[in-house]
Order: sequence, then C-alpha cells, then structure tokens
Amino acid sequence: MEPEKMRRAPKAVVVGGSIAGLSCAHALISAGWQVTVIEKSGAAPSGSPTGAGLGLDPQSLEIVGRWISNPDLLRDITLPLTIDLNQAIDSAKKMSWTLARDESCNFRAAHWADLHSVIYKALPPGIVLWGHQFLSFQISNDKSSVLTKSRILQTDEIVEIVGDLLVAADGCLSTIRQHFLPNFNLRYSGYIGWRGVLDFSGEENSDTMVGIRRAYPELGHCLYFDLADRTHCGFYELRNRRLNWIWFVNVPEPETKEKSMTLKASNDMVQKMFEEAERIWVPELAKVIKETKQPFINVIYDADPLPQLFWDNVVLVGDAAHPVAPNGARSTNMSILDAETLGLCLKKWGLENLATALQEFQTIRHPVITKQVLHSRLVGRLKQGLPLQDNTAFDPKTASPDECKRLQHRNMPYFEHAPTSI
Ligand SMILES: Cc1cc2nc3c(=O)[nH]c(=O)nc-3n(C[C@H](O)[C@H](O)[C@H](O)COP(=O)(O)OP(=O)(O)OC[C@H]3O[C@@H](n4cnc5c(N)ncnc54)[C@H](O)[C@@H]3O)c2cc1C
Repeated sequence: MEPEKMRRAPKAVVVGGSIAGLSCAHALISAGWQVTVIEKSGAAPSGSPTGAGLGLDPQSLEIVGRWISNPDLLRDITLPLTIDLNQAIDSAKKMSWTLARDESCNFRAAHWADLHSVIYKALPPGIVLWGHQFLSFQISNDKSSVLTKSRILQTDEIVEIVGDLLVAADGCLSTIRQHFLPNFNLRYSGYIGWRGVLDFSGEENSDTMVGIRRAYPELGHCLYFDLADRTHCGFYELRNRRLNWIWFVNVPEPETKEKSMTLKASNDMVQKMFEEAERIWVPELAKVIKETKQPFINVIYDADPLPQLFWDNVVLVGDAAHPVAPNGARSTNMSILDAETLGLCLKKWGLENLATALQEFQTIRHPVITKQVLHSRLVGRLKQGLPLQDNTAFDPKTASPDECKRLQHRNMPYFEHAPTSI
C-alpha cells in the first residue's frame, strides 16, 4: 500500500441515509474510518409523519444504545413488546381465541422517524450530504479506490467523492446491486400491507381508545396479530399516544412504477378497505383502522438470498443486500447487524486487508441473512394462508397447537443472537 494511504484514516462513501446507511456511519466511525453519506432526500425527516412502526430486537437495541452513547434515549422513543400474541378471529361471530402466546419476546416498538432521528443526531455533524442523488461509481484499475458521482438536487451540480470503500445502503431497489446483478429481480409476496398510525393524542378517553384497550388489554407491551381467513393484521402501541397497524391482504401484484414499495391510496380504495375492515375484524380494531388518517399501502416484495454481498471494494448492506418480507420484523434489525458486523470486520483487518475484512463480513452475515429472509417469507405465507411448499396452508380455525407455534417470532433463526464476529 502507498505510504500516504497508510498514514490517513480510511474513507468510506455510503449511499443511502436511512437506517442501514446511518448505522454503517456509526459502525465505521467507531472502527476509525472517515465516512460520507450520500442521501437524496432533501433533509433529515423531522417529527413523525414519515413511515410507521417497527420492532427492535434486544441485540439491535444494545448496538444502537452503544452508538448513540445514551440507551435512555432509546427507552424514551420505544415501548416494550414483551408479549408476542397470535389470535384467531371468527369474522362472522366477531369472536377471537389464542393461537400462540410467547411472554418473553423482549422486543421494543419504535416509530421509524424517531429511530432515524436518534441515530442521525448522534452522528458528528456534516457526515450526511442531504439532497445528493447518487448517480454512478467507478472502481480504480488497481481496485484500491472508488470514485462516486452524485448530483446536488437543488443546483444540478455534479460532485465527485472518492473513497476506499463504497457501501451500498440504497434500499430494496438498489442501483448499485443492479450494477453487479443485472438480472436480479424482486419477488412479489402475494400480498400488500395496508398500514397506518392512529394518533390518539387528546383522545385517550374516546370511545375508540376505551374500546380498543378493553378488547386488547395488553396494548402497550404486546405485539398483537389477529388472523382471519387468509389475512392477518399486526398492531401495537407506539410512544406518544400512537397505535401502529399493518393489515396484509392477498391480491395479484399491483401495477406500480418501477416496483415502487409504497402506494398512495385513493379515497375510493380507502373507503373499500374500511368496509372490508368492518367485515373481517372485531369492531374495536375496525374502528381504529377507520379513524387513522392517511392510511397507505406497502406492496410487499422480497428476494431470494443474494449469491454474494461484496465485489472488490463495494459492499451491500440493509435492504439492498436482503429485500425481506416484513413478517419476521427483520429488515431494520438486519440492517443494524450488518453495520455492526461490517464495522467490526473493518476494525479487525484494517484497510490494508480490506478484501479479507469484506470476505469475513460476508462469511458472518450471509448464512444469517439467508435463513432470516427465507423464514420471513414462510411466516408471511403461513399467516396469509397461502400455499406452502408441501401444498398445505395454515388455517387458524383448524390448526393444531404445534402448527400454531410456527407463528411465533422466536422461531426466527438466530432469534436470540446473531453472530457479529467469527
Ligand atoms: C422514508 C422511509 C420510511 C420508512 N418507514 C418504515 C417504517 O415505518 N417501518 C418499517 O419497518 N420500515 C420502514 N422503512 C424501511 C426501513 O428503513 C428499511 O426496511 C430497513 O430499515 C432497512 O433500511 P435501509 O436503510 O436498508 O433501506 P431504506 O430505508 O429503504 O433506505 C434507502 C435509502 O437510500 C436512499 N437512496 C436510494 N437511492 C439513492 C440514490 N440514488 N441517491 C441517494 N440516496 C438514495 C433512499 O432515499 C433511502 O433513504 C422506511 C424507509 C424509508 C426510506
């Protein structure tokens, strides 16, 4: 290695300033790297209008708590999800019964924007270049550096940034991944997710809130899943008087521009969804859904596990590396683990052994990612009553206790702990 390179701190260019990109910034800075994050959104999301809820597992909570040097901040933006409860719903009789109950789930619920905000605010200033759209990259002939080009969206100016490593945290539709795997395709899951967050500030004693707390008394520390005939709805409480819900509906693949993940729903679609909610769910849950402002649709895609996670000095992390169905609460947790593992490998091997570091990252993460992506797919299909590999389908009305146990989060491979080093 050139003497100049050995003297200075190694530099990474991270594309994408969402959870995976910002997590990598923390992990790489801890490993002694300089980091620049390129993000096309104009500014850090403020308040909580962006996104909805997510579940953080204990390992991610410990890692993020360390990055932000203040675990109390994480407690302040999350609520416990100690119980993982799957219930069957008889839509005609509006009755429910327990299918599977796990009282040691140990997750915590956060709003995406709150989590993003605490991770972002704990970074040194100036790390993230907001309003920069990444355009292309070129690996140097000796493979020792990567030149990136981005456009500043406000001025149209093109900027070039060179790094020793390019980290692709550009999400499910990653263009960097597409460069290496041009035939890679996302796979439609067979269902969409209607989702929303009901803000009940000032409405704590409304009929809706009194009703839902009576029907679901463990809200505030329980991850509820209601399963009806080939459909299911997950919901839980978030900090600051909010209820998060996501209702999965089996439909043919919607036509979207460039496989967009989020669809804005027309008034007509929302109206029809409300009518269906009344038909399928118990009245208390239907009411919560009906009173939620601006429910939106996530079209659910995942992908078969990628054959590899790095090429020369370009590495994939987060949804770019593993598009995954949301039914195992994995996406954000996997992104945090990717970042932590990458940081540890880079620290262990240093820039002079970058290839070994990336190989070790892949050796640690690939088996975990592979199993978790495939298991999340299985859980989604089980809960949606879609045909499984053996051509059977899960039916909450007839399922045996052993079959019901398959619904639980704790069956996720590496549920207790995923390795971050060899
Ligand atoms: C605005 C937003 C809200 C979300 N809300 C939720 C939620 O409520 N619940 C949940 O479970 N998950 C949510 N997610 C998804 C969640 O963040 C991811 O599934 C998971 O955390 C993995 O994150 P990621 O960083 O790999 O991918 P993503 O979160 O998809 O982030 C990819 C980032 O890359 C940026 N990017 C892409 N292409 C370019 C480019 N060419 N130039 C510059 N930047 C680029 C995008 O703007 C985005 O910020 C949300 C994602 C976003 C972006």
